[in-house]
Amino acid sequence: MSTTPLTSAELDQLTADLHRLARNLWWSWDQDAQELFQSLSPRGWQNLYHNPVAVLREVSAYELRMRLQAPDFAARVRAVVASFDSYLQETATWGAQNAPALAKNPVAYFSAEFAFHETLPIAAGGLGALAGDHAKAASDLGIGFVGISLFYREGYFQQSVNQDNWQVESYTLLDPANLPLEPLVNAVGDRIVSRVNIAGHQVSFQAWRVNIGRCPVYLLDANLPENDPPLRDLTNRVYGGDTTTRIMQEILLGVGGVRLLRALGMKPSTFHMNEGHAAFLTFELMREKLAAGLDLEKAKTLTRSECIFTTHTPVEAGHDRFNAGLMGYAAGRFQTDLGLTAEQVMDMGRVKPGNVDEPFCMTVLALRYSRAANGVSELHGQVSREMWQELYGVKTPDEVPIGYVTNGVHLVGWMKGPARRLWRKKFTELGYPSSAFVTEANTPEFWKKVTDPSVLSDEELWAFKYQLRRELLEFTRRRLLLQGGTFHQGDFIKFDGFLNPDALTIGFARRFATYKRAPLIFDQFEQIVKLVKDKRRPVQFIFAGKAHPRDDHGKAFIQKIIHLSKFSELNGSLVFIENYDIHVCRQMVGGCDIWLNNPRRPLEASGTSGMKTTPHGCLNLSILDGWWREGYDQQNGFAIGPDSHPDDIAEQDRVDSSNLFHTLTEKVVPTFFDRGTDGIPRRWLQIVRHSMATLAPEYSTWRMVQEYTHKYYLPGTTTR
Ligand SMILES: *Cc1c(COP(=O)(O)O)cnc(C)c1O
Repeated sequence: MSTTPLTSAELDQLTADLHRLARNLWWSWDQDAQELFQSLSPRGWQNLYHNPVAVLREVSAYELRMRLQAPDFAARVRAVVASFDSYLQETATWGAQNAPALAKNPVAYFSAEFAFHETLPIAAGGLGALAGDHAKAASDLGIGFVGISLFYREGYFQQSVNQDNWQVESYTLLDPANLPLEPLVNAVGDRIVSRVNIAGHQVSFQAWRVNIGRCPVYLLDANLPENDPPLRDLTNRVYGGDTTTRIMQEILLGVGGVRLLRALGMKPSTFHMNEGHAAFLTFELMREKLAAGLDLEKAKTLTRSECIFTTHTPVEAGHDRFNAGLMGYAAGRFQTDLGLTAEQVMDMGRVKPGNVDEPFCMTVLALRYSRAANGVSELHGQVSREMWQELYGVKTPDEVPIGYVTNGVHLVGWMKGPARRLWRKKFTELGYPSSAFVTEANTPEFWKKVTDPSVLSDEELWAFKYQLRRELLEFTRRRLLLQGGTFHQGDFIKFDGFLNPDALTIGFARRFATYKRAPLIFDQFEQIVKLVKDKRRPVQFIFAGKAHPRDDHGKAFIQKIIHLSKFSELNGSLVFIENYDIHVCRQMVGGCDIWLNNPRRPLEASGTSGMKTTPHGCLNLSILDGWWREGYDQQNGFAIGPDSHPDDIAEQDRVDSSNLFHTLTEKVVPTFFDRGTDGIPRRWLQIVRHSMATLAPEYSTWRMVQEYTHKYYLPGTTTR
């Protein structure tokens, strides 16, 4: 390696490359890139919550140039930049071969939330995580894809807990200059500003581009001086404010999103509505066609041929409904745009047109003007067909044209560092080029090979699991310290005795929506205490999750769990980590042995957190709802109860809690603690291997986006 100092031009180039790298979230699924930024300032990396843009601001330009003079550091930068560029420039992608039509006319994917990384907290939960993973997979696959969402300057709330163990929400202001965002400008460098009529006002908005590998996602932002103050705040918070804010945000998302794409000269072949929030885009597409001289019937038909819709929940409250007064106030402009009366507009969002008592439903609008619609698991497809049968006026649910594409996760993106390193090492040892890892890690062949005992021994697998569990405990203890002394005893911080690196570690983390029944397992309180106190076969629990700011029942669940963690015999073996987000999620799905999921069936449309566990050797223990009903094959994890459920809710809670306890004590605990003389649970590891081999490739967004492409995105695919 040459030791002659780098020239000024070379230093400029490497510095520019690092900044370019920091502003493409590709690094969020590339281990070497993350380690590069981390090594620039390990403490800064931790304090700034793994944010390369902020780290680069913290490390002065002068220090950076000096660091780059170290030949091995410069070589690492060059290697990462080379692999980034070869990723961006790859032409032989799956998309190039299978979906060339989308290159010119991409899919425009509208979602009210996208979760990409913990540094950009603009999502509330699973819907956002799914959208973010969809974009990452679209990039990996190389299909034409552009995302549309809003830039929430205050993001989603930060959670803390007060002395009464009651959730408290706070908001921090995001600074675009410190985030992996780029202002969207025109050819001469001016901000692109467009306008939408909302509640009688012309609302101006700008946009920020988030680079997701090869794909752009545009975040619309109403925070401009030319807007009056209340409108300036429209995009402040994820699902912020009341229904009025909600409908106004949704007009901006749907109508503004289409206008922005047009301002960029884009002609998407498909508008994919991820949930009903974006359904007003159909009105804008119709308006465009009317303006071009078509009549309304033709405009509707053409619009329908351009749109597809994914519904995400059977929970009633998850479907936006707006009354006529609000529609007239906030969305009155659609009457002018479409040449319709208020009632005619209302009818487009009603199951029964003409029924003046029926509010306007975004899901109905989306279903009515989509060429295809789908649920997010097989069971959810079925439930959605029953739910919307009336809208289609058909005799049986089977005739309802709603299909399904089961959700997935962006596997490599969700892997914790040690998992990414292990699987890539195994892969390259088998003779494959490491650049193929990101794609091959989504194939059944990959998982079959790397989980073969001749490639990965039980000893190695068990050591991997031990490392991940220890790291989770360390993470949890640090967070508990920051949360404020749950485990101070007198003047001492009682580290040992608080969580146990040898215990069967059960994780539960997701939004605290009540149907997910977070505290269900503690219905068997006395029995759980016995389990936890068993010195030979100890069990422990880690919980996390946010309740919606207006959901007092969800907050009461949080309160109950924290109370038990502090004041019951479970103290030391049950903890609640505050402020659940992507980072907490990654630690937990990595380090736990069991991922618990006990929703009230069939309300968990899919669920995705359980899918994130598989590359880490954590097993699912779940009700047969959502994805698990398809994923479970008797040998790749654990099912709670049968493939059916009682109609009565109280009865269901009772039966599920008893089944949960039964599976836990009869199957999970005995298998985990069935050890040979060497202490290795070989039977358990067999299940782990089988779980990886069967679940990881199937429940990946690589498979999911391919399925969307074949079923719905390509020209000429499924229409009604
Ligand atoms: C994956 C994920 C979810 C979704 O979890 P479910 O179990 O599907 O509800 C929610 N929140 C965050 C932060 C996630 O990463």
